[in-house]
Amino acid sequence: EAMNSLPFTNGDRMPILGLGTWKSNPGEVYTAVKEAVSLGYRHIDCAPIYENEAEVGRALSESFQENTVTRDKMWITSKLWNNAHAPEDVRPALEKTLADLKLDYLDLFLIHWPVHLRKGVLFPGSAEDMIGFEALPIGDTWEAMEALVGNGLCRHIGVSNFSIPKLKALVDSVCLKPEMNQVELHPYLQQPEMLDFCRKNNIHLTAYSPLGSADRPSELKADDEPILLKDSTIAMIARRHGATPAQVLISWAINRKTAVIPKSVNPSRMRQNLAAVEVSLSRDDMQAIAGLDRNRRYVSGDFWAMAGGPYTVADLWDE
Ligand code: NAP
Repeated sequence: EAMNSLPFTNGDRMPILGLGTWKSNPGEVYTAVKEAVSLGYRHIDCAPIYENEAEVGRALSESFQENTVTRDKMWITSKLWNNAHAPEDVRPALEKTLADLKLDYLDLFLIHWPVHLRKGVLFPGSAEDMIGFEALPIGDTWEAMEALVGNGLCRHIGVSNFSIPKLKALVDSVCLKPEMNQVELHPYLQQPEMLDFCRKNNIHLTAYSPLGSADRPSELKADDEPILLKDSTIAMIARRHGATPAQVLISWAINRKTAVIPKSVNPSRMRQNLAAVEVSLSRDDMQAIAGLDRNRRYVSGDFWAMAGGPYTVADLWDE
């Protein structure tokens, strides 16, 4: 079990494999989460912007009532949406998420994006909907996150979609350092420098979109997109292990000691993904996969780049 979890400095352990819930529709996510918990998933990745936390919460509370699992055996992550970055909005945002998830604490709470939106705005329609870092330093949002740990509302705090320079600025200036950065990681976007930086700074990584996020809405997709699950090297390695391509992708993430949160609402694929912990890739497999890196983001972040607005894609990733 120790191998299948990531240790935190206070002794807590995060199950390395979790269930993603972005795009899991209300109507299907309740069944999916209940099924996942019975299959043995012990880590669920949530966010209020997925607009399904109330259903996830219903599945969780029923699982606790039915004694499928106890709260302390589950790891629940959620995220602060971009429109609640003003320090006074942070705690109410977490309280809303806790109410929806029917929990009294989260295991991990993340700043979802290093991007501020005006209060009440879910997605920006124009530059007017956004606030720049000069008006609201991200460190102010972080201080409000730190207070939540003190209040017992979450056990750990971290960030998501932070570049190395943004992580570094935070690590160098704050009291409680971020313990997690959740970013897109898969064989086409391996981010070796990020892995190295986080290892040296005692920050864990969670790999999002580990299977290539093929069910993203079409407006978030490029026409020429390479399909990760159809990669021929991954397919070859999968055949060699009697495994599926998805299992190889998940096993690869675990091999790099990053948490990994494949999304599925399909019971047989959820079972398959969980069983990926039993696929052990060889050094040769890892080397072959290392050769597939092409710095390809599926979640490009270009939706934050509004004409005349405070954010550009280049600044977002500091590339
Ligand atoms: P993903 O997990 O890479 O891919 C999900 C897609 O793969 C779905 O279409 C799913 O379909 C399919 N799938 C699942 N298991 C499969 C298998 N064994 N074989 C073939 N297809 C399979 O994409 P993602 O949802 O973008 O990323 C995972 C999670 O990361 C999200 O759900 C979310 O929790 C988190 N995330 C966070 C951020 C962030 O900004 N922090 C951004 C993106 C994602 P079925 O459901 O039909 O099985």
